[in-house]
Amino acid sequence: MSKRGTGATDLIWRNGTLVPWDDVTLHVMSHVVHYGSSIFEGIRTYKGPKGGNVFRLREHMRRFHDSAKIYRMPLAHSVDQLCDAVVETVKANKLQACYIRPLAVRSGQDMGVLPLNAPVETFIICWHWGGAYLGADALEQGVDATVSSWRRAAPGTFPVLAKAGGNYLNSQLSKMEARQNGYVEGIMLDVNGHISEGSGENLFLIRDKILYTAPLAASILQGITRDAVMAIASDLGYEVREVLMPREFLLVADEIFFTGTAAEITPVRSVDKSQVGDGKRGPITRAIQERFLAIATGNATDSRGWLTPV
Ligand code: PMP
Repeated sequence: MSKRGTGATDLIWRNGTLVPWDDVTLHVMSHVVHYGSSIFEGIRTYKGPKGGNVFRLREHMRRFHDSAKIYRMPLAHSVDQLCDAVVETVKANKLQACYIRPLAVRSGQDMGVLPLNAPVETFIICWHWGGAYLGADALEQGVDATVSSWRRAAPGTFPVLAKAGGNYLNSQLSKMEARQNGYVEGIMLDVNGHISEGSGENLFLIRDKILYTAPLAASILQGITRDAVMAIASDLGYEVREVLMPREFLLVADEIFFTGTAAEITPVRSVDKSQVGDGKRGPITRAIQERFLAIATGNATDSRGWLTPV
């Protein structure tokens, strides 16, 4: 019986070499399995008129290096080498529209919390990308969200600037709670009760044509889509404010949307059954969404050099 996942492709890059998918295994004694010692990225390629393009590859690999640095995990490859490896892996798997998952883990077989002697292994995995992350109609119709009872990690606990596997235990709790209560996604608050982000997305609120998003101080991951949206919004003439927001701002916003590599720009149509604006995708959300997708799919000028051809 095949154990291959539905997205399985041919080859995975492991420490510099392309290896058949089925051969890439880890020992159960690996440090990461016991203590969550991994860092990762989520990157996407879009099919454009002239072939596939990776969206903001360098920024993702830079964040990967930042995550490794925070966790004192020595990576054997530079940002540039990892960017080249991503292109090589996507090409070797003959993919155009795909999801890319760079991952570094502490492996070895020696138990104990102290990770400094555990080997660090780096992987680049990619697979076919099908469908919208938050549901088939999500990009047009919007999603129903709830304020999570789980808070984002407080400053001085887990470093949230690192995209580390262990942080996603918190995301899982929030996501499961939301799903089991009939919502698509949970919006987490920070330890002080300010609006933070979703389990795998940043959040924007719009009121009187001004965009608001949580600052880094509100325990967010510094999203690359968030950064793209800030740039696009200002190109379109909208002011963007990074400010701490009280929870109730969710109830009076004209428009709300999530941003993320997987979620792209997904409108939120209700929060805890309170309708957001007209209860459908708002006009500013739509304008930003269209511009974002036009750039990512190579159908608008890539003036900031966000695309890398594969
Ligand atoms: N916050 C969290 C917790 C995430 O996992 C993600 C997805 N990487 C984001 C925000 C959005 O980040 P990006 O736009 O870089 O994908």
